[in-house]
Amino acid sequence: MDETNCGIGILGGTFDPVHRGHLQLAQNAAEALHLKRVFFIPAYAPPHKQNREENADHRLRMLELAVEDEPLFCVDDREMRAHQTNYTVHTIQSLQAEMPDEHFYFILGEDSLRQIRTWYHWEELLSLVDVVVSSRPGVDGDVQKEVDVLNALGYHVLVADGPQLDISSTMIRERIATGRGIRQLVPEKVERYMRSYGLYTADEERIDADFLQGVLAESLDFLDHKPYSGWAKRLKKTLRPSRYRHTLGVVRSAAFLARRYGVDVEKARLAALLHDCAKHNERMYFDRLVACGRLSEEDWHPSPVFHATLGALVAEEFFEVDDGEIIHAIAGHTTGFPEMSLLDQLIYLADAIEPGRDYPGVMALREEAMRSLQGAVFTSMNDQLIHLLQTRQYIETMSLTSRNGIWMQAKAEASR
Ligand code: ATP
Ligand code: MG
Repeated sequence: MDETNCGIGILGGTFDPVHRGHLQLAQNAAEALHLKRVFFIPAYAPPHKQNREENADHRLRMLELAVEDEPLFCVDDREMRAHQTNYTVHTIQSLQAEMPDEHFYFILGEDSLRQIRTWYHWEELLSLVDVVVSSRPGVDGDVQKEVDVLNALGYHVLVADGPQLDISSTMIRERIATGRGIRQLVPEKVERYMRSYGLYTADEERIDADFLQGVLAESLDFLDHKPYSGWAKRLKKTLRPSRYRHTLGVVRSAAFLARRYGVDVEKARLAALLHDCAKHNERMYFDRLVACGRLSEEDWHPSPVFHATLGALVAEEFFEVDDGEIIHAIAGHTTGFPEMSLLDQLIYLADAIEPGRDYPGVMALREEAMRSLQGAVFTSMNDQLIHLLQTRQYIETMSLTSRNGIWMQAKAEASR
């Protein structure tokens, strides 16, 4: 090969995202041909791939980051700026018109070379530039054969040797979507960029992140004002620290869901704040409720769900809540009810998916909560019942009745 050659390489692609395989390909070509520069040209909306314009800005930015520290490489964004599908032949014509004294080499991976005869005006394209191709791991067949065929047709195609990396953008997208790492596969700056924008993560994970972000943005300032400051103080005293933290998570989640589903935010916050008020203090509150005549000794039915019905009475009697809807939501937060108001559903769900919750399926539940309140409540009830069955625990009749109630409610709504 001509040692004095000083041409410019053109490497087009979708770069969705750019990876080390692309950089190695450019490097191999640059070394083989002593190129003075390589232009990376990201496609805005490649003719053979769908919907890539949606993340065009991210693809461009990642490519810029990838070549930032490579003096030989630069990004040419002409196709991006055009905001439409561009054919390579036109891009090359425009580069040649702009720099008539330069010699251009079109750089390709082996898989692209194999397809080149399907490209728009490929004969014209190949007659405009020399082509340099690098083998690509995982591509069947002999690259040289295709090169020979094209050269026999009168075109100029060279093979650049050099390291081959078994990396593709598809592989990277799949790895991210399934939660696997991608270190070493893309430049570090690109990895950081993808992570900060949550690019290529599965929908579920992205929506989960949206949910958590929305919930954590909910303010707890109302707890600084009377009478809630007093309530918070009492709860902090009677609840364990982890339970109190959970309570605040439920308050924020309930407020967030209330906004989303058009429920009174104030009521949602208060019901959430008091939903566990009797938890682990059942005996103490029970005795006080007996003492003031609200309950009698026969009402003592300790169980994992007792704190909910008791909590409703405590809220009424000792926190002086007189809003029946709030009381109802507190009473139903563990078992639900056969007929649940939006507020009831919201408190039930907020309790199950607040940011502190971590169990298999919680991410899917948060994702569903962003789409359908009732759907998520139904899923949560089913999950809960399955768990109780699998671990051979006692199931409250009310849990079953509520689950069937939601099922019937959904069916009635669907047939309306
Ligand atoms: P996808 O998996 O989405 O198709 P990709 O990894 O193939 O992405 P493209 O943007 O489609 O990346 O590729 C741009 C150019 O880089 C093509 O010519 C392709 O053949 C080449 N190329 C990409 N990865 C490699 C690699 N690992 N080795 C050699 N060439 C590569
Ligand atoms: Mg490809």
